[in-house]
Amino acid sequence: MSFSTLGLSPTLLKAIEEVGYTTPTPIQKQAIPVVIEGRDVLGAAQTGTGKTAGFTLPLLERLSQTQPQMRKKQIRVLVLTPTRELAAQVAQSIKTYGKYMKYSSMVIFGGVGINPQLATLRRGVDIVIATPGRLLDIASQDGIDFSRVECLVLDEADRMLDMGFIRDIQKLMGMMPKQKQTLLFSATFSPEIKNLASGLLKDPVLVEVARENSTAGQISQVVHLVDKGRKRELLAQLIKTKQWKQVLVFTRTKHGANKLCKQLEEYSGIKSSAIHGNKSQGARTKALADFKAGNIEVLVATDIAARGIDIDQLPHVVNYELPNVPEDYVHRIGRTGRAGMKGEAVSLVCIDEHELLRAIERFTKSKIKQIDIEAFRPNPSIVAEPIQNGRGGGGNRGGNRNKNNSSQNSRNGNRNKKPRAKVNSTTSETKTENKTQNSRKDKPRNPQAEKIGSNLQAKLDNLDRKPNSQNRRRR
Ligand code: AMP
Repeated sequence: MSFSTLGLSPTLLKAIEEVGYTTPTPIQKQAIPVVIEGRDVLGAAQTGTGKTAGFTLPLLERLSQTQPQMRKKQIRVLVLTPTRELAAQVAQSIKTYGKYMKYSSMVIFGGVGINPQLATLRRGVDIVIATPGRLLDIASQDGIDFSRVECLVLDEADRMLDMGFIRDIQKLMGMMPKQKQTLLFSATFSPEIKNLASGLLKDPVLVEVARENSTAGQISQVVHLVDKGRKRELLAQLIKTKQWKQVLVFTRTKHGANKLCKQLEEYSGIKSSAIHGNKSQGARTKALADFKAGNIEVLVATDIAARGIDIDQLPHVVNYELPNVPEDYVHRIGRTGRAGMKGEAVSLVCIDEHELLRAIERFTKSKIKQIDIEAFRPNPSIVAEPIQNGRGGGGNRGGNRNKNNSSQNSRNGNRNKKPRAKVNSTTSETKTENKTQNSRKDKPRNPQAEKIGSNLQAKLDNLDRKPNSQNRRRR
């Protein structure tokens, strides 16, 4: 099947050809025709599947079909994303595919000045790609008019909820017109996501891709058991002996990311940069550009900051520390092995993390191969300690899902400890990253969603039953 059968106009087909895509990915085959038709879509897919082109191409097609008069501050399409990086990436895709079309677009996110964003909006913009926090700031200053929104996209909705954006999203939804097309994409389908979907979507078409791009086959996974105090040494050895040139390394905390970066350079001469919510947007963009250009070998990231990163052919992902939430493991390793390429995911696991490893293996329903590295064999006399998520040890990413951490927090009396943020501490992403690294309570239910249409409910239930689906309920 080629793109020309999907209902896209010649200008878009020309741009696609120039990018070098010859065949639509499964999600593009399913989504493009129904989005052009104007249907609501519930998309079960994560990054790496070609999902971005799956919704940006048909949206551009729809935009080109009518040319309404736009008034000041009005917009036609709104794409909401959890992170600045993902917003920038979606905007870049739109620019690439819409190369031969007439439209205006802009990105809106925190960490940069608000005034230029307000000034651009004043002229009226066709497509806005935004993170929820800054968009709400702008809306509360009367800087944007949603009354003419024709299409709303919630990209990586699960991550937006994980980051604590539910209230912002609900407020924004209250400002949108009732008559509009809505597309919601998510990699996982927790009860909260189902609530959100059922409140927003009208008779949606379900488009779903199996998890072939996330774990099975293309990504080889391995665990090395190692003492916590020797992880950095082992990481440096792996990078040097295996001659890794581009490695994305995950830590649990922002402080941990900074520390590891510094030590890799200091002790092993390995060039690296950290990327997380406390870094200014300029520093994040530079770190990513340096990493993509090969100027640095290692990018150390926290889960939230890494979410939007799209690097073609990223060969290695290292879990320097395992995530507290098993779904994050799938998201992390999904950074490699994209669009059919081979990838390698290595996890350095200390004795404190054995329970987390078991939870990941239960979640992915697979046992991860363990390879013993003799020089780094764990010292059997070291006993497990509760995991500290942050400098004060007051963290519990994932709310009450991880019993170990919850009890640790209660013992420390740290449940309500205020997050520490230094740079950009007022941006919503920093706040949400702190929130997720520290105490996070389960989200409130959406009362509107209590009245779930039976049709959608059946589709959502069906997602849970599919054996090969990644859309399992969160524990
Ligand atoms: P996404 O899931 O949207 O983050 O896309 C993942 C990667 O696949 C990106 O680097 C895209 O450029 C690439 N991609 C998207 N669609 C296609 C396609 N039809 N053929 C080849 N590569 C694609």
